[in-house]
Amino acid sequence: MKRLSSSIFLILGLLILLALLGTLQYRWLSQISESDGEKAHKRVQEQADRFAMDFNREIQNAYFNFQTDAETWKAKEWAPFNERYDFWREKTAYPELITDFYFFEARSDAAPLRYDRAGRSFATAEMTAELADMRTRFSDDKTFRPIYADAYTLVLPIHNAERRVERILIKTNSIDGPLVTKPPEKYGYLMIRLDPATMRDQMFADLNAKYFGDGEFRTAVMDNAGQPVFQTVGGEQADATAPLLDLSPDNFIFANKEMMASIGAEKREHMVLNSRVESHSFNRVQTNGENQGTVKIELKRDSAPRTSVFTTTTNEGGNSPWTLRVRHSSGSLDAFLANTLRRNLAIGFGILILLAAAIAAVVISAQRAKLLAQRQVDFVSSVSHEFRTPLAVIYSAGENLADGIAKEDGQVSRYGDLIKGEGKKLSSMVEQILDFAGANSGRKKYNFTETSIAAVIDNALAECAPLIAEKEITVETDISDSLPPIKADGYAVSQAIQNLIVNSAKYSNGDKWLRVSAENGGGHIKISVEDRGIGISKSDLRQIFEPFYRSKEVVDAQIHGNGLGLSLVKQIVKAHGGRVFVSSEIGKGSVFTIEIPQG
Ligand code: ADP
Repeated sequence: MKRLSSSIFLILGLLILLALLGTLQYRWLSQISESDGEKAHKRVQEQADRFAMDFNREIQNAYFNFQTDAETWKAKEWAPFNERYDFWREKTAYPELITDFYFFEARSDAAPLRYDRAGRSFATAEMTAELADMRTRFSDDKTFRPIYADAYTLVLPIHNAERRVERILIKTNSIDGPLVTKPPEKYGYLMIRLDPATMRDQMFADLNAKYFGDGEFRTAVMDNAGQPVFQTVGGEQADATAPLLDLSPDNFIFANKEMMASIGAEKREHMVLNSRVESHSFNRVQTNGENQGTVKIELKRDSAPRTSVFTTTTNEGGNSPWTLRVRHSSGSLDAFLANTLRRNLAIGFGILILLAAAIAAVVISAQRAKLLAQRQVDFVSSVSHEFRTPLAVIYSAGENLADGIAKEDGQVSRYGDLIKGEGKKLSSMVEQILDFAGANSGRKKYNFTETSIAAVIDNALAECAPLIAEKEITVETDISDSLPPIKADGYAVSQAIQNLIVNSAKYSNGDKWLRVSAENGGGHIKISVEDRGIGISKSDLRQIFEPFYRSKEVVDAQIHGNGLGLSLVKQIVKAHGGRVFVSSEIGKGSVFTIEIPQG
């Protein structure tokens, strides 16, 4: 009892420990996944921002590089423009990005000028319907945009104000109230046409490979109407987004060292607006258009300040023409993280379940070993008990003969029969134990020959005849005439049937009747031994074929036995490729059936 309760405590303790481990594991894994998730979200947003910054920088370079004043156009002096164009081509990684430049004068309907690369000058070009349409769009201040993404076009206003600069000073104080500086009058517009194929096939492809080349994330570039411009994945759901084609003041600060050098240099002073300014601050104020803002930059030359105002689209309200959308290849980053968490939890819990199963297996096998040890002890005592009775009979019969108490012929032969009968019982008990030991060690050899089952049953009944007679049992037989001969070890099968008959006789419980039947069907020969005896409880039914198992009722009723008979039946039937099964009801009787295949 004490041992039982201590092992129950041990199991309970282990189960609590496992539950605790499971809970801790769940918590830890969830926490790790959460912090991993935050990091991953941050990382992908950073990558998206860098992608957008690189892209925007290219576009901005193409835009601000060509910022010129009206003087160039009035004088039709192309050298400064050529210089800018050469400079841009030298610096850009995508010289194919700009396909054309057109100049439109603001105040007249004069035909546009088109840049002739070979001639390195602007020449009059035909005003096509498409160009006329563009001109209408950008010459109205309300619809003016620096970028017309749908037409892959950039438009630079050319102002009358003189903006020759030596160095830049950016106004740092904020502008309160209405805008004080009015944009200078526009002299014209420079239209820069971009090549969609270069953007799609080179710029996006390169940036995609640079920032999302490992394939973990897919990208899509969508325009304002939600139509895809470039995509490696559908753009509906996104783990990160970034504005593209963004010329807002925040993105106004880029350039490279070479451009920096141009600040202050007499020859390149008109390049200054492309330059990076280390110390800067922009004031954005709302002006005429809905999405327009104004960047106020104060440019200084010597001590005389000049002011130049540039109109540019603000990015407030996420109104950039295009948006980069990045999505995890498995649908979404959250879904991927949830999947990973689920997988980790499954592995973790799987290991815990394995541990619990291992503990359960150890406990079960320990219980089994204990039970078996107990049964073996019971077996030894019941076998000794079984041996004791016939030995006592043999001993007293022998003593009587030796002492001359039994002298008469009839008496001597009765004593002889008694000794023979008890001796036979003893030897069959020893046989059974040896058979069991032999079968268990795998030494048992079966001699399979062509065998008639009817003959085997007759033999078994004949062997059991003394017991049947002693117990006064009525035996019914129902052996089908059409039983085919089968390959079997007749002696062993007879032994198995005898064990069943002996059990039916032993556990007959007053109703002294048993029936042995045999039939063939479904490729099998079925031999049944039926009785109307004590029957077997449901819980015992599962165990009666285990070696040494005896039901509590028969042990309590002191019915002799060693618990080996049915386990031997099972072994013999198994060796013949068959099976044995039982149906029984307490108080009503049992039917044991042996099924042996005919083949
Ligand atoms: P033994 O008969 O020596 O106890 P067995 O292996 O032949 O050993 O049987 C195991 C147990 O199965 C028996 O102890 C008994 O409880 C039960 N049993 C077997 N045959 C019958 C039967 N015909 N009627 C009722 N109980 C049976």
